[in-house]
Amino acid sequence: MSQTRDAVGFFELAEWDHKFLWHPFTQMRDWLEHEPLIIARGEGNYLIDVQGRRYLDGVSSLWCNVHGHRKAELDAALHAQVDRIAHTTMLGLSNVPAIELARRLAAVAPEGLTRVFYSDAGATAVEIALKLAFQYWQIKGAPERSRFVSLTESYHGDTLGAVSIGYSETFHRYFKPLLFPCERLDPPHIFRWQRRMSEADALAAAVREAEELFARCGERIAALIVEPMMQGAAGMWNHPPAYLAALRRLTRETGTLLICDEVATGFGRTAKMFAVEHAGVDPDILCVGKGLTGGYLPLAATLATEGIFSAFLAPYDEFKTFFHGHTYTGNPLACAVASANLELFEREHVLERVGERAADLGDILARDFTALPHVGDIRQCGLMVGIEIVRDVESRTSYSPADRVGHRIIEQARRYGVIIRPLGDVIVLMPPLTISKSELADLTDATRRAIIDVTG
Ligand SMILES: *Cc1c(COP(=O)(O)O)cnc(C)c1O
Repeated sequence: MSQTRDAVGFFELAEWDHKFLWHPFTQMRDWLEHEPLIIARGEGNYLIDVQGRRYLDGVSSLWCNVHGHRKAELDAALHAQVDRIAHTTMLGLSNVPAIELARRLAAVAPEGLTRVFYSDAGATAVEIALKLAFQYWQIKGAPERSRFVSLTESYHGDTLGAVSIGYSETFHRYFKPLLFPCERLDPPHIFRWQRRMSEADALAAAVREAEELFARCGERIAALIVEPMMQGAAGMWNHPPAYLAALRRLTRETGTLLICDEVATGFGRTAKMFAVEHAGVDPDILCVGKGLTGGYLPLAATLATEGIFSAFLAPYDEFKTFFHGHTYTGNPLACAVASANLELFEREHVLERVGERAADLGDILARDFTALPHVGDIRQCGLMVGIEIVRDVESRTSYSPADRVGHRIIEQARRYGVIIRPLGDVIVLMPPLTISKSELADLTDATRRAIIDVTG
């Protein structure tokens, strides 16, 4: 019965999608030429479309799902909160779930991060970090600290401040005149992958470049922002913990703030609660989003140290207030689910399981992918993987963008019942942290077959 109704519904929905929607990061001319895949339900690590077809959610619904879909504890937390209140403001009022979650976050966060400022998306968490850092130096009497430093090809979201520090020529060139300047550092990935150095030489070169920059203008830098361990949207560019530790050392030595953007890497993705733990680094400001609610609702947070927080304390008429907020800041439904998400990490020993599963995944990648003739590089940190497809492995020559190899591979994987999404010609695997051993085998098997089908 419901099967028939869903099947009839599909054609209407598809027509309305094509008539009324504008999809993100999507060339709509291509989109309008194809039947859309319309998700109706989720079940564990599977997405189910309106026609009843099941797909393994291989990228955690864009990197945010943690415990699978329809997780009973998260559903229950949401239901319980909606019976109390769905939304009230944090401007002039507080609310129970926002308070409880802030306390929990401070408890799991890296050392020293005691203050939680909520917002709704990774990009807003980053904007807040930048504005906090920028205002901080002015109220500390060091207005010359006005510049930001980020890593080449880092991605921090799509609002204009985030785009200024995470500039990508492909995505952002139309907006260049609107952006503020930013210093960029080449991470060791570039030196190693593109300049063919040994890992040790690449690290040394990248650290030297950072040292030179800080020596040249360290006292004019407000903050350095980094995606710790793995630059996600760049195409899964990993760097060794020693690089992160060096950036922390340099920022400390020059009194610069270190902002860590863990929107993608936070909440167990790299087999630690936060990726900075791999390097024993404590940032001054931490941005979280994506997995914060287990992938249920839009919620993000910017955590700061007590030192930064206290700089903003003053009589009202000194106007040191941080004048920033969003209507849905600290939304009770989202905060309630986020607290339930953090509880599950403890109760279900999620981090241990991610460690085991990541090791399984590493074995599979080494066994079944490294020898494929067009796999140029495989980069993994926990359950965060990039498989770089190249036309020629020896010379590291890419396919032409017009070939759309990455795109064709993920389309093919769909035929094998797996949803993944590429970053150019880098195939991303980023399954929910609860993925089972057999689901992992299905995911990698479909991906491998799709790569072979497309690249031969
Ligand atoms: C996704 C992402 C963002 C942006 O988050 P949105 O919720 O999409 O605004 C910022 N930083 C990193 C590292 C991300 O991966």
